[in-house]
Amino acid sequence: MDPVEVELPTYRVLIARGALAEIGRIAAASTRAHRYAIVSDESVAALYAGRVRGALGEGRTRLYTIPAGEEHKTRATWATLTDSMLDDGFGRDTTIIALGGGVVGDLAGFVAATYMRGVPYIQVPTTLLAMIDASIGGKTGVDTAAGKNLVGAFHQPAAVIADLDVLRTLPPEHLRAGLAEAIKHGVIADAAYFTDVVDAAPDIVAGSRSAAAALERVVVRSVSIKADVVKRDEREGGVRKTLNFGHTIGHAIELRSDYTMLHGEAVAVGMVLESRVAERLGIAEPGTSDRVREAIERTGLPSARPANQTPDQILAATRGDKKAREGVVEYALPVRIGAMAGAERGWGVAVADDVVLEVLR
Ligand code: NAD
Repeated sequence: MDPVEVELPTYRVLIARGALAEIGRIAAASTRAHRYAIVSDESVAALYAGRVRGALGEGRTRLYTIPAGEEHKTRATWATLTDSMLDDGFGRDTTIIALGGGVVGDLAGFVAATYMRGVPYIQVPTTLLAMIDASIGGKTGVDTAAGKNLVGAFHQPAAVIADLDVLRTLPPEHLRAGLAEAIKHGVIADAAYFTDVVDAAPDIVAGSRSAAAALERVVVRSVSIKADVVKRDEREGGVRKTLNFGHTIGHAIELRSDYTMLHGEAVAVGMVLESRVAERLGIAEPGTSDRVREAIERTGLPSARPANQTPDQILAATRGDKKAREGVVEYALPVRIGAMAGAERGWGVAVADDVVLEVLR
């Protein structure tokens, strides 16, 4: 594939095979760092940190690893990373390199947002989900016992480098989880892309050689959709809320599962149930939720509420989410595949508890 660059107001996303080798050049061009702190998880570091250090210059880098998994996206890990960098004498002339999936990206981005009141960082996403969603848009943060991403900051990266070759080592369940966000992009913005993702999903998950071109298309199109939305609304005052489709119920289910469910899996269930909410309210065209459910099931993702979570538990967990205004939880709901509701109301739709409970049952 030819390299593709997607422009945002203050940074670019480079999508290319072998892009990791470009990190030295991109870091030099986009930040004026004297030293680089690479933050990664143990699994990703074992695979790719050596290459990244080599490209940045061994002597100027230091590697900090955290254990893999959502349960480590916490204030405690943020504090450990920050203290280690302070102990090692990193100053304001530091650039942080977030090398990993969305957990590393959110966490390292939050360290960057707060370290000495903010230092630059570069996102080097290594999961499909992080490439097409989490690494773009500058949302950083950590989870707390009360809910996901409840402590954080907007802090835009200096650059995003998406090397498609690293996806060869990504396990199939994480390819599936990433495809959940690609399906979301289709629902919120592009019906033809929705169909394309669903058709290509089985081959992408199987890692077939013939799926390489489809995977490239998915990354480029999803990055463009996400970039287009965050360009129009960096701080989520309006249209960026559409990206939360599936995430109100999804976050609640993910939290209640104690993070045994992957983010993308929980969002998949959330999209099915939230599109059903939209149909119950007469907002979505009839048949929309069936199309979402079929897409999710074809991709091999879960489509139903986990049996060990009750409707009341899930409803209670949605209240801790950030998407509540004056105590009422707001949802991002589709009108049909490719278009979202609520433009006239700031893109959030308040939904009464009994409707949510009915759907959850
Ligand atoms: P993750 O970061 O936990 O990565 C998934 C697993 O894959 C980890 O075990 C990791 O070690 C492994 N891995 C990563 N890259 C690999 C590779 N190339 N080869 C082999 N193994 C690899 O999970 P994720 O799904 O990438 O991200 C989920 C997180 O992203 C959630 O915390 C979610 O809240 C966040 N998120 C943030 C945004 C945002 O806008 N900031 C958007 C969507 C999701």
